[in-house]
Amino acid sequence: MATIYLNNKKFVYSVVKKPIYSLRLKLKNANSFVISCPRLTPSFVINQFIKKNQDWIISHSKKVPIKKNLKNLKKISILDQTFELIYVHTQRDSIIVSTQENKIYANISKNTNKHIRLILEKKLRPLALKLIRQELDSLSLKYNFSFNNVNVRNQSSRFGSCSSRGNLNFNWQIIFFPVDKFRHILLHELNHLKIKNHSSVFWNQLAIYDPNCKSNNLWLKKEGTKYFLF
Ligand SMILES: [Zn+2]
Repeated sequence: MATIYLNNKKFVYSVVKKPIYSLRLKLKNANSFVISCPRLTPSFVINQFIKKNQDWIISHSKKVPIKKNLKNLKKISILDQTFELIYVHTQRDSIIVSTQENKIYANISKNTNKHIRLILEKKLRPLALKLIRQELDSLSLKYNFSFNNVNVRNQSSRFGSCSSRGNLNFNWQIIFFPVDKFRHILLHELNHLKIKNHSSVFWNQLAIYDPNCKSNNLWLKKEGTKYFLF
């Protein structure tokens, strides 16, 4: 591990020498990255490469989600409703979401991040699909859309997609976003059912469904992934 300051921000990085022909850079988290390079690359070349890419590193490092320590997580916000997360050490795993009490009881048998994630996702992912379906149904009724199938995925690079057959896919973790941003994502994909591209016609139409289209879109680009739990 080495340390470097880029625009006064401290980064740590490691260098991995590989049988490749050019240098590559991969962000690991908000303040670290990995450089892959050909075996005989001198360190000054690596340094030059980092400096050349420093603007990219700085701007993209801001978007990398900070991995949350689930063991310390006290609250989960689902579409503007904040739930207190209560961990109970039990032998059998289960998650109970109480919308009346605003509480999520996490009965967990193994106190590791990996296990908590597994158990939480098992419960919250189907819940996400249900919430997404409900909202899609109500938006479709309001604006006259008809879609085929809906699926949820765990692709951190995209919030949603729309296939040529009218199937909609969403990252299930968009339920952790404020409800107006969540709705914006659904409207974006629903709008693709009628307009496949991202032309000005598409954006003008989307702005009719969502008057705060521009600011919501900007928020999603800047903040979106930070709201992901995992
Ligand atoms: Zn799109």
